[in-house]
This record gives sequence, C-alpha cells and structure tokens, in this order.
Amino acid sequence: MNEWCLCYEGYRPAQEGLREALCTLGNGRFATRGASTLVRADGVHYPGTYLAGTYDRLESTVEGQIVENESLVNLPNWLWLAPRLPEQGWLDLRAVEVLDYRHELDLRHGLLRRHVRLRDAAGRTTRLVERRLVHMGDPYLAAIELTLTAEDWAGPVEIESALDGGIVNAGVERYRGLANRHLSPREARVTEGGLLYLKTETAQSERRIAAAARTRVFREGSELRTERRTATADDRVAERFTVELPQGTPVGVEKVVALHGSTDHAVAECGLAARGAVAAAGDFGRLEATHRLAWTQLWREFDIGVDQPDAEAAARTRMALRLHLLHLLQTASPHTIDLDAGIPARGLHGEAYRGHVFWDELFVLPLFNLRAPEISRAVLLYRYRRLGAARAAARATGFAGAMFPWQSGSDGREESQRIHLNPQSGRWIPDHSHLQRHVNAAIAFNVWQYYQASGDLRFMDAYGLEMLLEIARFFSSLAEHDADRGRYVIRGVMGPDEYHDAYPDAERPGLDNNAYTNVMAVWVLRCALEALPLVPASRCDALKERLGLDANELERWEDITCRMFVPFQDEDIISQFEGYERLAEFDWEGYRERYGDIQRLDRILEAEGDTPNRYKASKQADVLMLMYLFSAEELTGLFRRLGYPLGREAIPRNIDYYSRRTSHGSTLSRVVHSWVMARLHRERSWRLFTEALESDVADVQGGTTPEGIHLGAMAGTVDLIQRGYTGIEARGDILWLNPALPQGLDALRLRMRYRGWPLELHISHDRLTITATDSGPQPLQIGVRADIHAVKGHQVREFFI
Ligand code: BGC
Repeated sequence: MNEWCLCYEGYRPAQEGLREALCTLGNGRFATRGASTLVRADGVHYPGTYLAGTYDRLESTVEGQIVENESLVNLPNWLWLAPRLPEQGWLDLRAVEVLDYRHELDLRHGLLRRHVRLRDAAGRTTRLVERRLVHMGDPYLAAIELTLTAEDWAGPVEIESALDGGIVNAGVERYRGLANRHLSPREARVTEGGLLYLKTETAQSERRIAAAARTRVFREGSELRTERRTATADDRVAERFTVELPQGTPVGVEKVVALHGSTDHAVAECGLAARGAVAAAGDFGRLEATHRLAWTQLWREFDIGVDQPDAEAAARTRMALRLHLLHLLQTASPHTIDLDAGIPARGLHGEAYRGHVFWDELFVLPLFNLRAPEISRAVLLYRYRRLGAARAAARATGFAGAMFPWQSGSDGREESQRIHLNPQSGRWIPDHSHLQRHVNAAIAFNVWQYYQASGDLRFMDAYGLEMLLEIARFFSSLAEHDADRGRYVIRGVMGPDEYHDAYPDAERPGLDNNAYTNVMAVWVLRCALEALPLVPASRCDALKERLGLDANELERWEDITCRMFVPFQDEDIISQFEGYERLAEFDWEGYRERYGDIQRLDRILEAEGDTPNRYKASKQADVLMLMYLFSAEELTGLFRRLGYPLGREAIPRNIDYYSRRTSHGSTLSRVVHSWVMARLHRERSWRLFTEALESDVADVQGGTTPEGIHLGAMAGTVDLIQRGYTGIEARGDILWLNPALPQGLDALRLRMRYRGWPLELHISHDRLTITATDSGPQPLQIGVRADIHAVKGHQVREFFI
C-alpha cells in the first residue's frame, strides 16, 4: 500500500474508463484524462481534454423538439504518440500479449506512469514506459516521455506523434444521440521550426484553441536526429519518423505540448503563444523539476495528516484524501485565480453534466476558504460576473433581485436540460431540476463563509454585498404572504432531493414550502441585513441607491425572517416540504431485494410507470442539509426567531427519520449524513465517511465516475476531516474549534490560513495544539469550546479537551 499512489495492475479494458477519469492530470486551467497515448475514443478508451470555462452550444432534435445544450468542449487530443513495431500496425494493447501492465498516478508529484511489457505477434518482447505531466507551474504546458526498450530483439520502429482535432464530445453514452461536433479545424501544419501546430475553433462560442507540440528522440542522453514525414489532414497534424531500437538500450521519445486559447490573458494570438511557449519550453526533465516543485508547494499547504489505530487503514484513508485533494487542485488551483470559471460538478475529468456548475460549490469552497481563499474569491467572481444574467432571469420569471441558474455555464443563463433520458426505460422525461432555487442560498452562503474565513472586506464592499442583497431580494420576492397563516410561503420549487419534483398527479411541477429552501431564505435575508453595516455607510448607501433598495423593502426582509412558514409533521419532525407527510412509505426492503442497487430509484420507478413523487423516499439529504450547514445553536436560533420551538433534542430525531428514508443516490448525500452524525453517532458517521471516501475510487454508482469525478463528494470528505470532526467554524471574527474525533481516528494534523495567517493544528482525543507559524499583525481570536484565546505570531498554544 503506497499512500501517495493510485496504482493499478493489469490491463483491464472494462476498467479503462474509470482509470482514465481517476488518472486525469490537470492544473486548474486544463485537464486531460489518463488515457494512454496509444488510443483514440473507441468505446473502451476516451482521451478527453477540457479547458476551464470553454463551452459551446449546439442544437439537437429530440423526439421532434429542438433542444439546445451547452457543453464543456472536448479539445483536440494532444496525447497521440504511438509506435509501430516492424510489420505490425500502430501498437494496440488489445492486439498483443500484455506481459506486465502497471498504471500509476503519483499523487505527490502529479505524474502519471504506465509500464507495459508486451509480446507482439512476431514473438518480440518490448517494454514501454510512459510518464506524463500537465504542468502545475506553467498552466499552458504538458509533456509526455515514452521510453521504448527492445528486450530480445533489435530493429526499426516507426513512431507517430499527432495533434488530433477530429474530436467530438462523446464521453457520455446518454448524450450520444445529441449533436456533438463542437470543433472546426482552422489550421493544421508542421512549422518551419518542426513543431506540430493545430488550431481549431468552437462552433457557436467561437473560441479558438491552439496546440503546438515538439517531439524529440533521445538515446543514452543525446538527441537523435530523425527524418520526419508529415501526415497532415484538415483537422489532424502528424509526423512520423523511424528510430532504430538496439537490443536492451532504451530510446526515449519526448513530446512537449502547449495549449492556448483565444481568451488567454496577455496573448496577442493563441497560435503564436502556443508555438512560442513550446519552442521555449525545457526538456521533460526540466519541466518535471518545476512541476514537482509546484506540487510540493501545494502539498505543503494542503496535505492532511491522519492517524488511525490501524496503520493500514490510516494509509488507505490518507491515500483517498490525497487523491481527492489532487483532483480538487487539478480542477481549481492558483491558476484559477486569473480565469473566469466556476467549479464544474464533475471536474475537468469528463463530460457528465456537460461541465456545468451547480450548487456543489457549497461543498468545495469551505475547503478553499481555509486553505487558499484566493481560489474561493475567484470562483465567487465567476458568479459575480453573471449577476446581470441572474437579474434578467429573475425578471423574466416575475421575480426581483438575482436568480442564479441551477446549472451554469458560459454566460450564466440556465443550462439545465428540459428533458432527460432515463437509460433504464429509454424514455425522455421532463426535467424540472431548474426549480432548485436553493442554489442561490448556496451562493450567498459561500460569499458569507468566504468573508468570515478571510476577513476580506474589500471583496464584500466591491462584490459580496451586492450579491447578498440581490439574492436576498430574490428570496423576498419568491416568498408570498399567506394571510390565512399569517406567514410567508414559497411555492413551486424543488429542494435538493431530486426525487421529488411535483405532487403526485399534479399538473404543474414544483413543491410548496420546501423546508430547506424556506429556512435558507430566512438565513439569506438575515445575512444580507447583517452585512449592510460591514461596509462604510457612504458605500452602502451608494449601493442601495443603485439597487433602489429602500427602507420598506428592508422591513419586509426583516418581517420574513420572523414569519416564514416551515412545515412540520409533528412537533419536531420537519417536513421536507408541505404535504410530505401524506406520501406513502416506500418498500425499501422489497426494492432492495428486487433490484439490489437502488441508488437511482427515480429511474427504476419511472421505468415501472411509477414515480418517487408518491413516496417518502429521498435521493439525498434535504432537511438534513440544515444540520450540515448550521450548528445546533444557529439552527435552533433561526427556528426560535420564526416562532417554532425546535429544541436541540429534535435534531437527532430528524436525522434518524430522514436517514431511514434516503437512498444516497447522490454522492453528496453520504457526506452530509456523515457530517450531521459526527457528534451524535460517531460510529455511523465514520462508516458513512469511509463509504463516501470510496465514491469515486470504487465507482459506487456503477458507471458514473468514468464520465467525471464527483468533486463535491471529494471535497466534502476532506472537509469532514478539516471542519467536521474538528468543529472548526469561522464566525464573528473568531475561529472556533470544537473537536470530536470519531473512534476511527487517533489524531489529525492540518494546516490552514485564517484571516490571511497560517496556522498548524494538531488534534487528538484529549489535546489540541495550535501553532501560529508566521508572525501576525495582531493576535488572532481562537475559540476553543466556549473560551476565547488570543494567539499571536510564532506562538504555540496547547489545550486539553
Ligand atoms: C445531485 C445534485 C448535484 C448534481 C451535480 C445530482 O445528482 O442530485 O445535488 O448538484 O448531481 O453533482
């Protein structure tokens, strides 16, 4: 067990899709799946490269309707580097005898390695070692080193190196009937300096993407001059050359690639930039050294130390956490700071959900807030720039303020599909998921959490407050006053649980008074009111003037925070939505017996002509999201203000109630359930945590990970360690800690940055040590359980807990 390596033994075509997704390399700007350099998209393999924020929109006809989808574009395949052994075709692992095969992702250095030993049809034994990086220091570069050794023969090998723009988006089976050709060729040639050069353009968004590649051959430390033959088509540029393989002496082929786009900063033209970058790049060894340094520095900030009673289990946990952190950092990194990109729910690792950005950032940003808050800030600015689109969407739907979309892509319009395919029944069914208005609360929550952890008042002043006010305004307009109840209600929405999108037999979609949405609306309104005095009065007044926000409107906000309706089943079971209590209980045992895996109950029931709308069965945490986001104290405070006497003792009852009625059909769900149980049922919490750790590595949803990782669950599991079990909360200028380690954990070591200053924490069952590693301008306020302590720069404080 190597806790810094995701290692696979043996070539297993059926597993390639999963391995490719999990062995994706990226740098926050672009990422490439871990497909071999020898393959094309062929149903087994799927080389895919995605550039953050590069979307394109195409129309398709589905069942007589025109549907438009915006997708993160699969860019030209820069990987192709294939040998042809004498009298054989281009090397295909399925056509030779594979003697040894090892595929490793080196987590510490962000390097991919593949060792293959094979025997070809002529009985020759050849060894191939591929090493690959997508540069974490220079976000435009990537490189491959392919080393060939003829073990028991000698002779000529032909090599082809190519940049292939004949690429479509075909990574998700369910979308294959839809239009998928986003790229058109613009230029494909070998330059005078001997570089492969390819420029393509996306169909609708007119993004130009340029790739340049330099391929060189080395034997025993010296470069070999080879005669190149070009093989160029409209959309593919390739060169071929022949090298003599001596018996037993390795020959190395190195390919260095630059990828530029027309929206890059400080670039005159992307083709020029790509050619210049690759011509100036060092060889693989030099690139590797700077790439390793970038990762070493990232790990210094991000690694988490976990001790468990069982050393092997601890190594497994550390490996999984590192894998999650690696993929998180490959999707959003310091290079993201300068981009206009949100965090796609499935990373830059595949095409599921078309690279769209959902509420999943709610599970991701808390991690960055306390590690690299500048990344959170950049991601929040992606939303800020789309405030105009969110205002337009609110207006068009009859609301005020800003209504951010459930699925967001390039320009911030709603990208959720209106019909989706149930692969189980083969039917296209209406998709109402855009009614998940709670995504707006997630954005407001992220703004507030970022501010609490960073203390970045300038962000609040320039962007954050405006977002909070406009989202608050939206929720205020969504809430209607119900005179009979003397309370405010929110009708026609969906909560996080996607199994419920309408009342059984209702004509229109949407549910009334989803408890999570209503309580979050209250929280957003209160937060906006509290944030107003944070910025200087003159700035705040100018903003209110610009938004036309007057005292009457603020009064209504205040009123809603005291009189929002929340449905209950009895005194202390919160109803997921109004009328939930009238739904039928679901036959969990019967269905488990019949189908085994019932995570996607929605698809099973639809295929049976039924619907989950009829049952008390949730896909994922909905009511329990409240306990995930708020401490017991905050939550009971919110309910008290609303005039509902929800005591602390109601919390475990709600957790039990909904745990028994949730299928965990979303990977986010186990993270939430584990979190809310962290203090009440430590063992169950730990078990759910370990299951959540497996979500992608074991592809627990049976086939979704090959289409892209689940970044919310990946970040959420790390955050369970970072904030969940440590009880860390940045609130009211104080960093609160309230550790409660589960039995499965002996100790934790974390680094974080609070209000700009690095801290190191060491936490065991009875002791907490905080080290302020740098000098600080003023003491930080650290709350341990109920006491507040001042921690100065270069100080070590120890607490018995
Ligand atoms: C979940 C959503 C989530 C989305 C993207 C869905 O399956 O139900 O909560 O936002 O996946 O990860």
